[in-house]
Amino acid sequence: MRERFYWHTPKKDVWEKNSVMACASYLTKLDWNYKTSAEEQKQLQFYSTLCDYKPALGSWSLCIYGMLNDKGMNPNNSTFEKCLESLQGLCSLSNSTTANLTIGQYHNVLNNATRFAIPEPTDSTRPIEYPVAMNQTFRSRYGEAFHTHAYNLDISNYYGLLLCSYFLFVLLVASCFQYWDRTGFNAVLFKHKFFNYIRGHFLLPTLLKNHANYTNFKSITLGLFPTRLETAYLFGYQLTHLIFICIDYNYDPYNLLFKSKSLQRIRFFADRTGIMAFAQLPLIILFSTRNNIFEYFTGFKYSTFIMFHKWIGRTMVLDLILHAFAYTIYAVNYKNLSHSSKQSYFQFGIVACFIAILMIILSIGLIRKNFYETFLYSHIILAILFFYSCWKHVEKLGWKEWIFSSLAIWAMERIFRLIQLLNFGAPLAKFQLYGKDLIRITIPKTPKMNWNGRPGQYGFLYVLHPLIFWQSHPFTFIDADDHLIIVARAKTGATHTIFKQLVKQGGSTQFHVSIEGPYGTPTNLHHFTNVLLLAGGSGLPGLLDHASILAQDALKSNKIVYITLILVVRGHDILKAFKKEILALKPLKINLIIYDTALQLAGFGEATPNSDSTNSFHEPLLQSTSNILKDLQGSAIIYYKRPNLEKVLSDACDENKGLAIVCCGPPSFVDIVRNNTAKQVLKHPNKAIQYFEEFQCW
Ligand SMILES: Cc1cc2nc3c(=O)[nH]c(=O)nc-3n(C[C@H](O)[C@H](O)[C@H](O)COP(=O)(O)OP(=O)(O)OC[C@H]3O[C@@H](n4cnc5c(N)ncnc54)[C@H](O)[C@@H]3O)c2cc1C
Repeated sequence: MRERFYWHTPKKDVWEKNSVMACASYLTKLDWNYKTSAEEQKQLQFYSTLCDYKPALGSWSLCIYGMLNDKGMNPNNSTFEKCLESLQGLCSLSNSTTANLTIGQYHNVLNNATRFAIPEPTDSTRPIEYPVAMNQTFRSRYGEAFHTHAYNLDISNYYGLLLCSYFLFVLLVASCFQYWDRTGFNAVLFKHKFFNYIRGHFLLPTLLKNHANYTNFKSITLGLFPTRLETAYLFGYQLTHLIFICIDYNYDPYNLLFKSKSLQRIRFFADRTGIMAFAQLPLIILFSTRNNIFEYFTGFKYSTFIMFHKWIGRTMVLDLILHAFAYTIYAVNYKNLSHSSKQSYFQFGIVACFIAILMIILSIGLIRKNFYETFLYSHIILAILFFYSCWKHVEKLGWKEWIFSSLAIWAMERIFRLIQLLNFGAPLAKFQLYGKDLIRITIPKTPKMNWNGRPGQYGFLYVLHPLIFWQSHPFTFIDADDHLIIVARAKTGATHTIFKQLVKQGGSTQFHVSIEGPYGTPTNLHHFTNVLLLAGGSGLPGLLDHASILAQDALKSNKIVYITLILVVRGHDILKAFKKEILALKPLKINLIIYDTALQLAGFGEATPNSDSTNSFHEPLLQSTSNILKDLQGSAIIYYKRPNLEKVLSDACDENKGLAIVCCGPPSFVDIVRNNTAKQVLKHPNKAIQYFEEFQCW
């Protein structure tokens, strides 16, 4: 009989199955007078006697019938048909002809057994050659033993689903706040002492010192730490997960199926952790996708979803390890580890476990920060191998729905990315070098593109150069109607390849490019009358765009909006690269303040020299750009020092009744602004001070 293919795991705890398995389990222990040739004897499988020896098969049918009756189930034709299906499934494992029984033949077997069955002899030394009517107490205990086992499998799948629902709840809560943000209700809510106490202490600040910036231990990069809000969500997840791993186990008090009660516990724990590990796969994939509809609803940044992706992934790997460990103990106790290790499900399970651990190791902060491409491609290849191994591991067991749904999400998102790229096409973009390491990229837009970028959004840029065309890197762009502008700082990877080409070509060249996006939920600032925009280094484009659009909209609608744009730069290169956009702010009502920190030796904390500095190997290649600061005289306040961010924020919050603070810049700059904003929220419990961070790192 061909095995039926299921897209989802059918419920295990059904009496049509429990009865068949339980009766078989008991009856195989009896000494049947089943004579086979020596050759056949070698081929005998676990269910062979029950399937092929008529009195045993009759006893089996009778026992099943009795058990269904005990359970108050009417063993009518349809129930019996389901039992027959289960029975056929087991007999097909032994290649028995019983696998082809029709329901009519099955009834005949049952009728025959009913007529001739006699109770099982208690001390028989003679092999049994007649149908046996199983003792009702035993029958019921065996039934319960299988019921508890199957119940534990079902409930594990159910808890897996509930664990996913935890994030549904998180997304729902976040969507409410995002909706209230759009409608301006948060500005009312955040005037309340209670909310500001919670926000200032538990939601806004970084968990430890850094969030945007990598956290180091001595000189070792540990990774990116979540904000307190992200930590709260993740803590809730871990707690829910822990509870679901620990609760609601049903045990068989007679322990009829396992060698010992502790082995029964170990087996159920192994099942629970394995199923829970699988249940996390769709979330892991969903939260890694660039096109995630929940970003729009919740306002969560991609980096927040990646934070969830990482921690759910780690939890899943922990479950896998526990699952493998528990099963190994189980197999060792049954002394069948060497036999199990020859089974393909076991081998693929071990392989999947090792791949998952390797993925965790290869995605540590140190590797992501220094060898991003190595991390990315190894992650994708290992993920494919991992899914294949998982599939093979459970091919005949079930729970493949978790794999299907994950792969479906992954495939759909990839198709969506492709559509975005096809939509954008491959226009010829102009690349210009500014200063020591800044590349201004001007990409023409065509009406066919259907591209409408908003301030602060970003796209993944593909530069169609033979050495880097497969790579895509995120850059914030300014959408200037007929073209997009990106200013990229040359680092050591793809951007360095472009930089070298530019140096070779005298500072200006052209490449075909494509962009996947636009990504990121735009920050909605339109219901604020006071907006403080704090931009540092490469974080300028989004905030320049915000300032310009806010001021223009205010002008059009005759609304008074106080916009302060603070640009913190080291030297004039970045100002030159954005010269056109900065000068365009002059006629608008924007309080523009520029801090040039070039003359001040100290940076913003430890990471600034790496993240926002010029690279010593870059040849200076000056553009013939007039001094932008001269052009800005009279319309901007210019300081040649590092800003005291604490004071800047404190002054802004003291002066205004409510305030939106938007920040994008070098990681440590962003972390300082975040933590100081949290302080201001606590200092002004009755003011609606909202913080929007546009910087992202993952
Ligand atoms: C949302 C967003 C917007 C950004 N906007 C700008 C911008 O407007 N201007 C600008 O100069 N830079 C921007 N960046 C940073 C920019 O993406 C990286 O500098 C760029 O990817 C470096 O490419 P590379 O191959 O030269 O990197 P490398 O020299 O290999 O690495 C430099 C750093 O960039 C990170 N990085 C490399 N590739 C990626 C990637 N595909 N995704 C995420 N991080 C990566 C690495 O972890 C490392 O920390 C932005 C980053 C993000 C996440």
